[in-house]
Amino acid sequence: MGKLIFFAIIALLIYWIIKSRQPKDMDTNSPSEAIEDMVRCTHCGVHLPKSECITNDNMFFCSDEHRHQHLESSK
Ligand SMILES: [Zn+2]
Repeated sequence: MGKLIFFAIIALLIYWIIKSRQPKDMDTNSPSEAIEDMVRCTHCGVHLPKSECITNDNMFFCSDEHRHQHLESSK
């Protein structure tokens, strides 16, 4: 039983070391690649992932409704 606990502690220790190292590795590499680009809605200013936004003439919008509203207001 003592051996089992010993190995469990070793396994936990290894797991903890690996887990605590991973965020540091991501920071030293390129963090912009690991974290998705966030863009700001031109109309309401809300932040959202670039893949979820609607793009129009280098402007980003959170929804098609805001794109329409912004284009209407800028006319
Ligand atoms: Zn918006």
